[in-house]
Amino acid sequence: MQFVSLGKTEAIGASCHLALIGNTGILIDAGADPDEEGPASLPDFDMNHMRSDWHVDHVLVTHAHHDHIGSLPVLVRHFPHVRVHMTRATRDLTDFVLPASARLQRRKLQEGNSIHAPLFKEEELEEHRFLYAPHDLNTDFDVTGLRGQCEITARFYHAGHVLGAAGVLFSWESEGEIRRAFYTSDTNQHPQSIVPGGNYPEPPVDILIPESTLGADSGAELTTRKSEEKKFADALANVLARGGTVLIPSFAFGRAQEILALLHRFKELELIPFDIPVYTAGSMRAFADIYDRTRFNTPRLDEEFRVFDVEQVRLPRKPALLNNALRGPAIHLAASGMMFERTTSNDLARRLIEDEKNAIFLVGFAKEDSPAAQLLAAAEQGDDAEVQLDRMKPAQSVRCEVRRFRFSGHSHRRDLIKLVERLAPKTVVLVHGETNARTWMAENIRFFHPDIRVVVPEEGAPVDL
Ligand SMILES: [Zn+2]
Ligand SMILES: [Zn+2]
Repeated sequence: MQFVSLGKTEAIGASCHLALIGNTGILIDAGADPDEEGPASLPDFDMNHMRSDWHVDHVLVTHAHHDHIGSLPVLVRHFPHVRVHMTRATRDLTDFVLPASARLQRRKLQEGNSIHAPLFKEEELEEHRFLYAPHDLNTDFDVTGLRGQCEITARFYHAGHVLGAAGVLFSWESEGEIRRAFYTSDTNQHPQSIVPGGNYPEPPVDILIPESTLGADSGAELTTRKSEEKKFADALANVLARGGTVLIPSFAFGRAQEILALLHRFKELELIPFDIPVYTAGSMRAFADIYDRTRFNTPRLDEEFRVFDVEQVRLPRKPALLNNALRGPAIHLAASGMMFERTTSNDLARRLIEDEKNAIFLVGFAKEDSPAAQLLAAAEQGDDAEVQLDRMKPAQSVRCEVRRFRFSGHSHRRDLIKLVERLAPKTVVLVHGETNARTWMAENIRFFHPDIRVVVPEEGAPVDL
């Protein structure tokens, strides 16, 4: 197999890798970089300038997060004969996620918040739909290319990350031997509130390609979900008891639904009062709907549970009604998780931040320079430290309570090392992590398992596996 990453490799950018096996070209993921806009957010699909013999027969999209699916329409334009494979749930999510992305890009241009023309339009997505082939988990399907010299099968495994997320196992014959390569994609080995932990193929595999998102996070491995849940319930109860409002900035897809399931459990167990209103907004509600629709045919901890079992009030837009909704005690779930400018969570945070009764509880990954990370840093300085959450607005004193809870959808780094041990590969290829995250993973695997070949690929540079 020849393997090359087409997206940025020194950070978590557009996830997109090309695997060439016996003259078949398979793209794994077609993501867009959430940090960039326009053409700069795309993986390098223009392969001919690199190697004239590179081509693409099949694409496998492992889940519906933007960094794994955001460039799919552009890719289909580059390779019109391609077949696109995904799980059934990801297929359902695609019909919502891609048109929403097209509309957002158009709106940003119209409102003068971006200089880039949209990368794709809603109308064109309609024409691509017939190319997307849905598959069941744990079922082989053929991904041999037209000029393929050997038969290649693929199989999706539940990845335990978000609804529809899957790892993928490739099997083919080479020199009379069966070879197996497993790509974990974003994966979580432990159950969350809705989604059970991931499943993995029987060992051994020849090649393992794991994500490394939390490879540099030494804190994640020191917490357990149970202790975080208890801390979170206690902290919520405290704020609500003093009549405060809690803002939980959250990614709209995945994290928000898991947190709502947790709030439901807290209410059932009377850890927080049952009648406290929970406000949700925008696409969060559409994703909740897809979670509920698919609950009988995707892996669940409790298939009876619906996200809309948690009574949710739609966040009002009118200023008078909004002010009312922000009066405590109340809980607000709002995107984005990193509180980027011009998002609901950023707006609500600026309205709540100066009152010590209120709280902002972060529940996901916050990259270094994001407003969420700046807020955390200011809160740690204590006593009236200031933060400017929006560069167009004045700085404000951080008087409300600010805390961070670890409810990641990713495996922490010790668990990833254990997965390497369990699957016993000859070669490990580290992807989807910042440089220091992949370095920690590489050093640890090399130290504990010197017999395993560890590859840390660079963008655009092919490696023979
Ligand atoms: Zn993801
Ligand atoms: Zn990802």
